[in-house]
Amino acid sequence: MVIAVDGPAGAGKSTVCRLVAERLGFIYLDTGAMYRAVAWALRETGAPFEEDAHLVMGLKGLPLHFAIRENALSITYKGREIAGDLREPDITRLASEVSQRPPVRDYLTAWQRKLATAGNIVAEGRDMTTVVFPDADVKVFITADLATRTRRRQREYLQKGMEVDFSQLLKEIRSRDEADAGRGIAPLRPAEDAFFLDTSCLEIDQVVLRILSLTEGLP
Ligand code: C5P
Repeated sequence: MVIAVDGPAGAGKSTVCRLVAERLGFIYLDTGAMYRAVAWALRETGAPFEEDAHLVMGLKGLPLHFAIRENALSITYKGREIAGDLREPDITRLASEVSQRPPVRDYLTAWQRKLATAGNIVAEGRDMTTVVFPDADVKVFITADLATRTRRRQREYLQKGMEVDFSQLLKEIRSRDEADAGRGIAPLRPAEDAFFLDTSCLEIDQVVLRILSLTEGLP
């Protein structure tokens, strides 16, 4: 079974999808981490990627590997786990930039479909319901108003000991949303048959229960 979830930054996708996957004993696939990993690895190799032809070559030789371990995504670069390095602001910006490039999308779409053959899965990102898993058993679009999403992100940063300015963060999230929704390839948008969930006034548990209820009765 595939549960596909899309939505903008800070909508709560990661927290909710991780919990849904845990409850069902499914794999949890964070595809944003995969875009971040490509951004990180391209920066690390220092290979030029302004031209698509260079990017295609760069991706071919990238010592980046994705696997599923204990129902979660494992990302290694030259055999070393890199998950902890992926959430820094520079990588966030670069991920949003490289995610607009067709060779990167093709490369990661192929990886994501391959990883989904490992078992039942909850996959979250920006194009899970529209491009990567258009035939998913359950499709959900999660969103929340911009101020709520900014507050949630600010709280996440605070928990990691990073203080960030609210209005600066709001501007960054808005411009990332615009880039994700406005790009020509695999733009962020709700699939026609996706269940639309505004989480602005919902607690995490309520969102989890709603998604779980969508799986009831499925084989
Ligand atoms: O979800 P997260 O914020 O970690 O994603 C980082 C960036 O990766 C997003 O801003 C978006 O540009 C890109 N992304 C994407 N398609 C996905 C997942 C993430 O374009 N399926």
